[in-house]
Amino acid sequence: MIMAKTPEQLIRREVFDLHAYHVPLSDGMVKLDAMENPYRLPPEMRAELGAVLAEAEINRYPDPTGRHLRNLLAEKMGIPEGMEVLLGNGSDDLIQMLTLAMARPGSAVMFPDPTFVMYRMNAILMGMKPIGVLTRDDFSLDIKAFLAAVQEHRPALIFIAYPNNPTGVLYPEDEIAAIIRAAEGLVVLDEAYHVFAQHSFMPRLAEFPNLAVMRTVSKLGLAGIRLGYLAARPEWAVQFNKVRQAYNVSVLTQAAATFVLGKLDVLEKQAAVIRTGRAGLKSALEALGGLVVYPTAANFFLVRVADGQRTFESLKGQGVLVRSFHGAHPMLANCLRITVGTPEENRILLSALREAL
Ligand SMILES: *Cc1c(COP(=O)(O)O)cnc(C)c1O
Repeated sequence: MIMAKTPEQLIRREVFDLHAYHVPLSDGMVKLDAMENPYRLPPEMRAELGAVLAEAEINRYPDPTGRHLRNLLAEKMGIPEGMEVLLGNGSDDLIQMLTLAMARPGSAVMFPDPTFVMYRMNAILMGMKPIGVLTRDDFSLDIKAFLAAVQEHRPALIFIAYPNNPTGVLYPEDEIAAIIRAAEGLVVLDEAYHVFAQHSFMPRLAEFPNLAVMRTVSKLGLAGIRLGYLAARPEWAVQFNKVRQAYNVSVLTQAAATFVLGKLDVLEKQAAVIRTGRAGLKSALEALGGLVVYPTAANFFLVRVADGQRTFESLKGQGVLVRSFHGAHPMLANCLRITVGTPEENRILLSALREAL
């Protein structure tokens, strides 16, 4: 019998060297690590949703392109006339589709760095060259460096999280527009936090032939159903649709999203409460002293403390789960990312932080 090879010998080097996306256990913890909306739907709406889902035909395959849901999103999210909508199983799925479709040999993916890890990870997986352009030390966009890098590397694809994760910074609109104008490749604005930022390129989508706007309903309050959407010109959408898994958005997700989008004001009111909580948490964090609080347009704060690992562990010991970025990126040494929670959760966080610092 021939000696079978090991996974190490057979799995692609790029895959073997990756680390799986790690999600820590959070049972019973105050969960402020993943930018989730802390509020559930109101009880009467949950009961109604139950009835809607009971009627869903889960014996059938989903509508492959989610036509009804796409039309509803176009209407509710102000997607300009003439643009196409593409659905993803979360926006992570869309990032994968975009990268897969554009991975010509030798091509590059560019993004301001530090940022959301999936841009780099998908570039590596698809054999594209990932190029992170470092921000300034305060995580503001180094527009000169970025434009120079665009000229030098001529990336096929540029991802910009607007506002950025994990820093929370919203880059100036005129600088984003300058990048779109300077790029020969496609610029994808990842607007995962648009309800908290209240700034969007969606209204300007038709202005640029090389712009696409990507969003998710995850941070809005529906992280569990896994739904992302991309708004782009038809000539882009038709290509990305070819690499989409035919039934990537389930019957249950389409039904739940359709129902909740019909009552979008409920989620928008929750987002407004979170924005108010964010303002309160900002001054309370600054009043603590002993940490740097970076400006944010999202539903989280990036803070830098004296000893990130110790503070993270102390918070965890007190039942508060945040996300530590210490060790994840040289610029994020001793940085923690803290999601804005309910007023009660924010109070617990603050008293735990007081203890931890
Ligand atoms: C959370 C997040 C996503 C992922 O959203 P899903 O739809 O839950 O996959 C994408 N981009 C950014 C910048 C995020 O912060």
